[in-house]
Parts: sequence; structure tokens; C-alpha cells
Amino acid sequence: MNTETCPFCRIVRGQANAAIVHRDDTVVAFRDIRPMAPTHVLVIPTMHVETLQDLQADAVGLVGRMIAVARQVAVSEGLDSGGYRLVINTGADAGQSVYHLHMHLLGGRRMNWPPG
Ligand code: AMP
Ligand code: ZN
Repeated sequence: MNTETCPFCRIVRGQANAAIVHRDDTVVAFRDIRPMAPTHVLVIPTMHVETLQDLQADAVGLVGRMIAVARQVAVSEGLDSGGYRLVINTGADAGQSVYHLHMHLLGGRRMNWPPG
């Protein structure tokens, strides 16, 4: 998948609609189009990286920035007291469907464990 057709790169460039809740130079967060919880936000790097495994070893700090944004959004969504879950599906076995690295922020209901 290239950056022209990647649906998340299109959101970063403003070429596709999304309910954006955070934007800075390196990270964008927007509401999932098919929410699986009362709050379901996707946190992505603005840079196109297909999966967590494709991130260069010297770039893993980007995931820290994604987590920092997820923590802020959790507060603004009122999830910090009740809790929330962060998920990065990586590759086929995890069911990754969009090959632009993203972290799910899920909250607002009780989560099950183990996941399906
Ligand atoms: P994953 O299965 O981890 O790859 O998750 C991809 C997520 O992206 C799914 O939860 C989809 O509902 C969501 N999604 C796909 N396209 C869009 C879009 N254009 N805007 C918002 N969320 C999307
Ligand atoms: Zn992309």
C-alpha cells in the first residue's frame, strides 16, 4: 500500500473525512468509523509505516508519542478514572486490516479478557 491510496495517509492529508480529536506534527487521532466501544479512537503516526514491525529500531520512540496522545485523549474522553484499553493489531494473525500503524483506544464499557 502506498501513501497515495492509504486511507489513513488520506486522513492525515485532509483528503478523507474523519472526526479528528488530536493533531500535531507526528501524531493524529480520530474516531473509528466502526466503533467497538463508546469511545473508540485510532491514534496514528503522520508518517506512513505499515506495521509496528516495520518501524525502524531508532523510531520506536514514535510509539511513546502515540501513547502520550492516547493518555491525553483518555482524559478528554473521561476514561482516566474508569480505565481503557490500548491495542496495536500487528499482521494477519492479529487481524490487522489497515496497513498504516495505528493504536486503538477503547473505553467507556467493561472490556473482556482474553480478547477473541
Ligand atoms: P485494525 O483491524 O487494527 O487494522 O483496525 C483498523 C480500524 O480502522 C478498524 O477498527 C476500522 O473500523 C477502522 N477504519 C478503517 N477505515 C477507517 C476510516 N476511514 N476512518 C476511521 N476508521 C477507519
Ligand atoms: Zn498511510
